[in-house]
Amino acid sequence: MVDFICPTCNKNMPYEIKVIISHTDQHIVDVIKKKHPKWVEKDGICKKCYEYFKSQFHPEEK
Ligand SMILES: [Zn+2]
Repeated sequence: MVDFICPTCNKNMPYEIKVIISHTDQHIVDVIKKKHPKWVEKDGICKKCYEYFKSQFHPEEK
C-alpha cells in the first residue's frame, strides 16, 4: 500500500484520495502554483486541498 504526501498540506494521505487535476481546472492549477511554486499537476493533491482550492472560485453567473 503506497501512501503519498500531499504537496500542499504536507500530510500523509492514502493514495486513494489523491486527486489529479485535469486541464479543465487550469484556474485551480494556477492558484496552487502561486502558493506552491514547486508543485506540478502530476504531483496531485489530496481531496481536501482540491476542495479547498476549488472553493476559492465562484463560477460567474452571467
Ligand atoms: Zn492536502
